[in-house]
Amino acid sequence: MPSIGPVIFRVAIQVPVYRLFDYLAPIDIDLSTLVPGVRLEVPFGKGLKIAYLLEITQQSDIDISKLKPVIRILDHYSLLSAKDLRLLKWASEYYHHPIGDVVSTAFPTALRQGKSAVLKEKQYFCLTELGRTADSTVLKRAPKQKSLLDKFQASNVTLSETALAEWNPHWRPALNALITQQLLSQSDVKRPYIAPQKVLSNPALICNPQQQLAIDSVCNHLGRFKAFLLEGVTGSGKTEVYLQIIQAVLEQGLQVLVLVPEITLTPQLEERFRHRFAVNIAVSHSKLTDKQRQIAWLQMQTGQCSIMLGTRSALFTPLTRPGLIILDEEHDGSFKQQEGFRFSARDVAMVRAKSLAIPVVLGSATPSLESLHNAQRQRYELLHLPERAGNSIEPALHLLDIRNKAIQEGLSEALILEMHKTLAKKEQVLLFLNRRGFAPTLICHGCGWVARCLRCDANLVIHYDEGRLRCHHCEQEQQLLKQCPDCQSSQLTPLGLGTERVERVLAELFADKVIVRLDRDTTQRKGVLENYLRQINQGAVDIILGTQMLAKGHHFPDVTLVAILDVDSGLFSIDFHASEKMAQMIVQVSGRAGRAEKPGKVIMQTRQPEHPLLTTLITQGYNSFAQKVLQERQEAALPPYSYQALLRVQALDSAAPKLFFNALADLMQNIKASHTLILGPVVAPMAKRAGQYRYQMLFQNARRDELQHFLSALMPELAKLKQAKKVRWSLDVDPVDLY
Ligand code: ADP
Ligand code: ZN
Ligand code: ZN
Repeated sequence: MPSIGPVIFRVAIQVPVYRLFDYLAPIDIDLSTLVPGVRLEVPFGKGLKIAYLLEITQQSDIDISKLKPVIRILDHYSLLSAKDLRLLKWASEYYHHPIGDVVSTAFPTALRQGKSAVLKEKQYFCLTELGRTADSTVLKRAPKQKSLLDKFQASNVTLSETALAEWNPHWRPALNALITQQLLSQSDVKRPYIAPQKVLSNPALICNPQQQLAIDSVCNHLGRFKAFLLEGVTGSGKTEVYLQIIQAVLEQGLQVLVLVPEITLTPQLEERFRHRFAVNIAVSHSKLTDKQRQIAWLQMQTGQCSIMLGTRSALFTPLTRPGLIILDEEHDGSFKQQEGFRFSARDVAMVRAKSLAIPVVLGSATPSLESLHNAQRQRYELLHLPERAGNSIEPALHLLDIRNKAIQEGLSEALILEMHKTLAKKEQVLLFLNRRGFAPTLICHGCGWVARCLRCDANLVIHYDEGRLRCHHCEQEQQLLKQCPDCQSSQLTPLGLGTERVERVLAELFADKVIVRLDRDTTQRKGVLENYLRQINQGAVDIILGTQMLAKGHHFPDVTLVAILDVDSGLFSIDFHASEKMAQMIVQVSGRAGRAEKPGKVIMQTRQPEHPLLTTLITQGYNSFAQKVLQERQEAALPPYSYQALLRVQALDSAAPKLFFNALADLMQNIKASHTLILGPVVAPMAKRAGQYRYQMLFQNARRDELQHFLSALMPELAKLKQAKKVRWSLDVDPVDLY
């Protein structure tokens, strides 16, 4: 760049504004080597902030004399590739979210805070000229030093800190002494990274023909963009297919990004990867420290690791040699971020794979309706694994009509009988109830008073074990009451069913059996879940009771009876996504049964045995169910046959949202809506949460580009409204729930 005027750095900063900021580049900087993607430190307001360099220019809309200079440049080279920077800009535009927040999402917390992006090099040591010829017997009064010198002289190699620690955990003093005597010195040989010659530690399985077909289809497209949807019931061998595709990618010396909903819930998956591959594997999820995540990120960025196994936030991990992206359990709601930058890791993974020109594989036993729709439109190639790998048989699903039947804390007599039969065969039972706590409601038998959260439009949930009443939507909690605060009656009655309550009745009915309850309350402490899973797999547990945690990828080979205690609650939601989620849950939970050679049985207790969605799912399977729901969506012009964005607005002051929507209505008169439907404002399904009054407005259009056009015109203006400063608002593009 000819240096006519001052050079300006256009940067993104993590603040809630949509635009970039201009700063003066340091004068002594060599611009020929500087590219966008480095981090900077800049003055901002009264303090300093980390900024991300996006553009180098010579023009600014702001008077040059008003621009402040950059304080310092943190990185010597760009941490993100030009393609990834473009991806982030695209995501900022598509989700209408401030660029600074979007860019910082790509970085681990430690790097966002300005920590060094240079991986600490291991130090290496070697003999000096003097040391090579020295007679070690002179050191006989310092035996440790002598033996260390012997070690170096015997091999005459460079030894790393790691090797020395293996020799003796307390190696440092002896080494320092030898360095002082000029017998050893630090080696400046930096071990270059050597690509592993060997990709596998353990051989791959022999595939069945369907698995082989799936593997070949993807492997024929390495080095090009193509999207695949791998649909296969639990146990059909999807993971094995991933492993073999990954093997092919690794053999080309390329890297793989594998995204899963929650690794901490499925420790077996990481084990399987480590068992199979000889290459370095990085792992990233929320239970790791900032430091660990920073190292994992940098090891991918520098190419030292070949596989990244991570959750949603790992999507933006830089890859030096990108080869493949895999999203397992692609239907899972956790791939959509639900606050701040509300991106869908699945959708952005598509865009990223396309820009990197690599294949992307989405896998699930219960694909999302969006993905099935994309497969139908031939945007994704559908790969199908129709049967379980090995010999195991798929479980049979049964609806159990519990209308007018005797029920004990959610368990019908017929179910209890089945449980006894299964347990008598020394097989395991799994009970699913997606509600934790003892009961969702505490009601007074005397006057009808109900324990409500003072800050939410919700009842307090009874947690007997801890003697608390707790709101599941905010932090609010209190002592469990013994008396009604209104009428002083002591007849406070729990209403409804939670896992804690079922656990109690199980302990009475099956007094000689071992029962394990798996939900967020019982698995808080680190290691508890792993411990329970081990006990279950060792056969030390008879009955497993739990929430949706059970639906996530666990293998329970000895479970032969699965019961879903209450399927009806998923049938009557006002949110059109609910039936899809319910079906996915049922199929996922069912998939835990009979994985080994023992056939499984699934019982669903219902008061709606003729409900068409349930009967379709039971008699014809998930795919027919999905086709039926897709047809309903098409008739109602709902996604994936249209595109939505949800504007959520909340405030402590109940009047503020109204004023905001009035101002918004005025604003929208001047904005061309094309065919965008504007629905609302309406009170949110949960009208109050954590003290905030909640409202929402839905925008919908049959065309994505028209909706995007409308939002691009609207959002910058909306953000400027003075009434917008008095409320908390957010835009959710492609929302996965309407709450
Ligand atoms: P999914 O990911 O679809 O649940 P997995 O890949 O975990 O399926 O396979 C289920 C079980 O079947 C695992 O124990 C796996 O080792 C085994 N398996 C998978 N593929 C084969 C195969 N080709 N031959 C033998 N066993 C297989
Ligand atoms: Zn009362
Ligand atoms: Zn609350």
